Amino acid sequence: MVAKGISIVTEAGSKFAVRNGGHNPNVNFASVDGNGVLFDLSQMDTLTLSSDNTIMHIGTGNKGGDVQKMADSVGRSGVTGVNTGVGISGLTLGGGYTLFSQLNGLVTDNVVSFEVVLGDSSIVNANATSNTDLYKALRGGGNNFGIVTRLDMKTSPIHNIWYTIMTFDPTDYEKFMPALAQVQANMEKDPKANVYFLASAQEVECALFYAEPAGANPDAFAPLLNLTPLEVAAPPTNGTVYGLAQVMSVPEPALGRMLSSIDQKPSADFYVAMYKQLLAAGAPTGTKTDLTLAIKPMGSRVSSVGTKQAGGVPNSLNVPAFSHTWISILAQWQDDKDKDQMTKRLKDMNSWMTYNARKSNLLLPTLFANDAGADQNVMASYGADSLANLKAVSKKYDPAQVFQKLQANGFLVSKA
Ligand SMILES: Cc1cc2nc3c(=O)[nH]c(=O)nc-3n(C[C@H](O)[C@H](O)[C@H](O)COP(=O)(O)OP(=O)(O)OC[C@H]3O[C@@H](n4cnc5c(N)ncnc54)[C@H](O)[C@@H]3O)c2cc1C
Repeated sequence: MVAKGISIVTEAGSKFAVRNGGHNPNVNFASVDGNGVLFDLSQMDTLTLSSDNTIMHIGTGNKGGDVQKMADSVGRSGVTGVNTGVGISGLTLGGGYTLFSQLNGLVTDNVVSFEVVLGDSSIVNANATSNTDLYKALRGGGNNFGIVTRLDMKTSPIHNIWYTIMTFDPTDYEKFMPALAQVQANMEKDPKANVYFLASAQEVECALFYAEPAGANPDAFAPLLNLTPLEVAAPPTNGTVYGLAQVMSVPEPALGRMLSSIDQKPSADFYVAMYKQLLAAGAPTGTKTDLTLAIKPMGSRVSSVGTKQAGGVPNSLNVPAFSHTWISILAQWQDDKDKDQMTKRLKDMNSWMTYNARKSNLLLPTLFANDAGADQNVMASYGADSLANLKAVSKKYDPAQVFQKLQANGFLVSKA
C-alpha cells in the first residue's frame, strides 16, 4: 500500500507528508496543509513477538504504549519514550529518549532491522549486516530516506523498577537545581538511576526512576529526596516500566506548541541561572500558556551501550560520550492571540541559554531532533562527517531525491 502510494505521488509530482503519532509540533513535519498527500500510518498496527519474546515486530502505526503493553505481558519492557501516546516510528527515527538509556542505549539503537519503502517504491531492509549505511542513517536521520513500515526491535529485560514523582516549590530553585546536578553526577556511578525534570515558572515536576525494585530509596537520588517536596505525585513505588509510562502519560490538552532544543554539559550554577531566567522571562498569562524546560540528563554510557545494542553500528547522532544534558524549551499557548508572544519568549530563552552556555564553555553542538524546532539545523548539528554520510545515503537510496523534493517538511539533509 505504502509503495503504491509513493509511486502515485512521484508520478503526480505531489507534495506529501508522513505521520505516525502526529506529535511533532513543527509545521508540515507530519501534515500537508490540505495541499498534498498525507501517509497516515495509524492503521499499520500489527504487533507480534518472537518466540523467545526478545524481538518485537512493530507496524509503524503503533504508539509507544502499544509496544509497552505487549512487552509487559511477557515480563519485559519496550524501549520507548516516556509517554504512551507518542508514535513509535517518529520517535525512533529522531533517536528517541528513553527511561534507561545508560542500560539500553537510545530507542533507535534497539531497532535490529528497519523495513523501508524507498522513493522508487522498492522495499528494503536495513540492519547491521544488510544496507548497513542506511541502518546507521535512519537512526537519527528522521524522514530523509524513505517511509519505514516495520521496526524489528529488541525488548528489554528491565521490567520491574522503582520510581517516584514529586513536585517542588518553584521558589526553591537554589535547592532543587543543585540537587539535580548532584543526582546527574551520581548517575555516572550508578547507571540504573535516571532523573527527568519538567520546570515551568508555575510547576516543577521531578521523576526519579531506578532500573530494579528497591527496598529503600536508591542512594543516587538522596540529594533530591532529602529536599522537602511541595507534593508527592507518585510515592516511592516498586512497579513496572509500563506502569510508570502510564503514570507519566497525562492527557494532553489541545494547545498551540513550539519547541527548541539545546545540548550542554551539566552545571548546577547554570541550571540555577537558567531557571531564574525562565522566571524573569515574564509571568505566565494563563495556566497552560507558559514556557517549560524538559531537562534530561544523559549519562556517558549512552553512546557506547547504544552502539553495542545495534550490533556495533553507531547511530548518526554523535551523542557525546560524557555526561551531558538534553534540554528542550517548550512554548505552549491556549489562545492563538498568545502565539507571537510565546514564540518570542521561546526564542529569547533559547538565545539566552545558547549565549550563556557558550560563554561558560558548556554548550555542545548536537541537537536532539525530537525536541528541536523547525528552524534548528539538526542534521548539521551531528557534525560534518555524519552530515556528509547522511547526504551520501540520501543520494544512494533516493537518487531522484523524492524525499527531499516532494516531502512537505522535516529536518531534510538537502536544507542542512
Ligand atoms: C507528550 C510528549 C511526550 C514525548 N516524549 C518523548 C520521549 O519520551 N522521548 C522522545 O524521544 N521524544 C518524545 N517526544 C517527542 C516525540 O518523539 C517527537 O515529537 C516525535 O517526532 C513524535 O513522533 P510521532 O510518530 O508521534 O510523530 P509524527 O509527528 O507523526 O512524526 C514525526 C516525524 O517523523 C516522521 N515519521 C514518522 N513516522 C515515520 C515513518 N514510519 N517513516 C518515515 N518518517 C516517519 C514524520 O514525517 C515526521 O517528520 C514527546 C512528545 C510529546 C508531545
